[in-house]
Amino acid sequence: MKNRISKFIFKYRVLFIIIFFLLTGFLVRNYYIEKNKVNNQPVIVNPEEQVKGRKEEIVKLEKYQVPVLMYHYVRTTDEPEDSVGYKLSVSPDKFDEQMKWLTDNGFKTVDFSYFEEPVKLDYKPIIITFDDGYRDAYTDAYRILRKYNLTATFYIITDVVGYPYYMTWDMIKEMSNSKMKFGSHSLSHPDLRNVSDADLDSQLRYSKDKLEKELNIKIDNFCYPSGKYDEKTISKLKELGYRNAVTTKTGIANETSNIYEIPRLRIQNNTNIGSILSGL
Ligand SMILES: [Zn+2]
Repeated sequence: MKNRISKFIFKYRVLFIIIFFLLTGFLVRNYYIEKNKVNNQPVIVNPEEQVKGRKEEIVKLEKYQVPVLMYHYVRTTDEPEDSVGYKLSVSPDKFDEQMKWLTDNGFKTVDFSYFEEPVKLDYKPIIITFDDGYRDAYTDAYRILRKYNLTATFYIITDVVGYPYYMTWDMIKEMSNSKMKFGSHSLSHPDLRNVSDADLDSQLRYSKDKLEKELNIKIDNFCYPSGKYDEKTISKLKELGYRNAVTTKTGIANETSNIYEIPRLRIQNNTNIGSILSGL
């Protein structure tokens, strides 16, 4: 009998060895899985905990830099014919190239509310602005901005909306419904330092009212016509509920900027956007 068992074991020894190794391997594997569970705490999947975790990640910044780009026309024009217009124009191809550069270099657009609560972002914040509400803002700039999923703020001179070369209210409304932002650029673009008190009030009050009524949104951002303003202009803006304003002064806005005197970077057709923004 004993002999038969020995013979059986001998005959199937290879099988026994294989079973032994499989069993050992299985046990060792399980041991390491259990060990890792203790060392690496499992991720909490409770949605409430996750939201809490994200809230804690919001870091308010003491120091920040937000370039505000200033554009006027997005069109092709010849320098000899119209030298002022040429300086204010960026061709659609160039504008496309500039927006591509921003996207490729980690920039994403924010709006002016960023100045009230500057927080750490996982991208570089930038603001794009267009003065005067020319029609090519709708036909060209808007098209290219959407291509790169960017937004911009357009400053409207409300008395000339619908005039030749200027956008219509329908165009402005369509853009407003597609995440584009709007600000007042006064009723008729005067030098605000040289108007009467009553006119100053009208220029700032009724342009805001008109935009708010047409677009059904709050307007609290202003752009000084031709960059001209004084202390009285700033006081009136505050009185009427404007929260910030942009100038034509050159610079990159930061924590030291006066929120009613935000500097901008004038972008022209030959501006090398990479060189002026490379330090950010
Ligand atoms: Zn203007």
